[in-house]
Amino acid sequence: MHIKKLVLDDFKSFGRKTEIPFYEDFTVVTGPNGSGKSNIIDGVLFALGLARTRGIRAEKLTDLIYNPGHADESASGGGAREASVEVILDNEDGRLDRSQVVSAAGSENVGSVDEISIKRRVKETEDNYYSYYYLNGRSTNLSDIQDLLAQAGVAPEGYNVVMQGDVTEIINMTPYQRRGIIDEIAGVAEFDAKKEDAFEE
Ligand code: ATP
Ligand code: MG
Repeated sequence: MHIKKLVLDDFKSFGRKTEIPFYEDFTVVTGPNGSGKSNIIDGVLFALGLARTRGIRAEKLTDLIYNPGHADESASGGGAREASVEVILDNEDGRLDRSQVVSAAGSENVGSVDEISIKRRVKETEDNYYSYYYLNGRSTNLSDIQDLLAQAGVAPEGYNVVMQGDVTEIINMTPYQRRGIIDEIAGVAEFDAKKEDAFEE
């Protein structure tokens, strides 16, 4: 399974609907400083609900909505009131099966699961903001999205996304801490935690 396409709409610097294709093995995004490369990664974290521990670079969710006066502190308003990012996953290898998708979407009506579409929208109103998740077009919630992704080995505390600075952090870790990462990736950390809980009881 891999990301096939990203559709950003009024998300951060993407002030119009932008489709970004990803290839199966390797995709490189290049461009000048400030052109929006890291915003693409922020888009993935935002849409997949992975931002909790990995940190999107925004103070509040509504900062993610495209604002044409973003670079200018004195300018405000005039921007869009809504942003969305859709991540389209290629699931042709059947990593996630139909029943898993149906259960996370809470609907039989999910179409073909050869492609899995996860979309998140943030909407700003006068005095509040709202966040919505969709799975293959069906309205769902963060925990169902996270449960589904966990079954494909994608988790907020995992290392699917290696952020700027993570590599230095890993180099500076003690061997014991570094071993923790390997346990996490191998999937045994979960059992260690359960074992500890059992001993405590
Ligand atoms: P670098 O090579 O320096 O890492 P980059 O290509 O990763 O650069 P990003 O950090 O992705 O660049 O993009 C930064 C740009 O995004 C800035 O110009 C900033 O003004 C713009 N930006 C961030 N949030 C918004 C927003 N809500 N509306 C409009 N523009 C935004
Ligand atoms: Mg960057």
